[in-house]
Amino acid sequence: MHIVVPDEFNSGETRVPLIPEHAAKLVKAGLEVSVESGLGKKIEVTDDAYVSAGAKVFSDRNELFRKADIIVRLHKPSKEEINKLKEGCVYASLLDPFNEKELIETFMERGVSAISMEMIPRTTLAQKMDVLSSQASLAGYVAVILGAERLNKILPMMMTPAGTIKPAHVFIIGAGVAGLQAIATAKRMGARVSAFDTRPVVEEQVKSLGARFVKVDLGETGQTEGGYAKALTGEQLQKQREEMAKVCASADIVITTAQLFGRKAPVIITKEMVQGMQPGSVLIDLAVESGGNIEGSRIDKEVDVNGILIIGLTNLPGRVPVHASQMYSANMFYLIDQYWNAKEKSFNLDLEDEIIRGCLITHQKKICNEMILNFYNK
Ligand code: NAD
Repeated sequence: MHIVVPDEFNSGETRVPLIPEHAAKLVKAGLEVSVESGLGKKIEVTDDAYVSAGAKVFSDRNELFRKADIIVRLHKPSKEEINKLKEGCVYASLLDPFNEKELIETFMERGVSAISMEMIPRTTLAQKMDVLSSQASLAGYVAVILGAERLNKILPMMMTPAGTIKPAHVFIIGAGVAGLQAIATAKRMGARVSAFDTRPVVEEQVKSLGARFVKVDLGETGQTEGGYAKALTGEQLQKQREEMAKVCASADIVITTAQLFGRKAPVIITKEMVQGMQPGSVLIDLAVESGGNIEGSRIDKEVDVNGILIIGLTNLPGRVPVHASQMYSANMFYLIDQYWNAKEKSFNLDLEDEIIRGCLITHQKKICNEMILNFYNK
């Protein structure tokens, strides 16, 4: 069974999907691993390091695609790349299947088994394969560092002979994986931290990190079976905005991370709310790629609105690519290791298995994922 890791050509991608440490473990488990020459360059990992790990290094990208039994990658392929794969090949990466119907159909027609890493269930058993969590915690960390760097103030309180400096106020909206890491980072840096989430269970987690939980009575909110937030009604969202506006007015940094699984992110901060903030404040929209939580945020842009900065930079984990690669690579290793049968030399895509049922989108020339099928047939 041959695992292939082609280089990423997405603009600005700095992460690497498989590092030598995990390549070595896969080789030890009886798999053959081949990588494209230059794969590790962005994180200072040489081709020789992969060779020392027992992998082979190839320069001919087409040859790599042709020989793959399993492709390990960060991003979705082009249609041309799918057409180079042999029937029965497994392709595992982030795939954005809700928005990529055509690509999913190409996988299906070609007989490629597509694994969408964002669809790995959020369960205890699957935690070690969960790339959304591993990358989101880094994004939360980087968001605070970025905000601190752009802010024209310091974060901690400072008592000096020249006077006392008050701590900066950081407000985090959405306290999932990224939000909780952002809270912890801002607290460590000495800021005063407030946070809000529509899932009531989060209040305890926010408080345990030493932050203030902003209480808003929105009536029934709750979460889905998978632990994701439910969408608010128009009325609830309006009420949320009114309460958030008050907190934003006193915040120096606002970080929004509010997402709705498989749907467009809710707009929580309106233009009027931005205008109600103090000049010099910084907003960071971590949901910018799924529609944005902040009106006026733009993908990969920093927008200045009367002295208030709205940051919509994407791929924040890519700003710490060594650790982002290390975690993504570990997630991939655990996924393969879990389903690799060394005795039979086969990769078991068992649709009875809860994790496989969640993340496998196409198999044996069919779309086999129930959630995606329902979504496409809506
Ligand atoms: P996410 O990225 O889907 O959303 C981020 C946060 O935004 C969530 O906490 C959500 O409740 C919140 N949100 C949505 N709409 C909002 C609004 N209008 N205002 C404020 N906040 C809003 O979430 P995530 O970080 O991927 O986590 C999703 C769930 O998965 C959570 O329940 C988390 O605990 C769970 N999880 C479980 C595991 C595990 O058990 N292995 C691992 C990771 C995450």
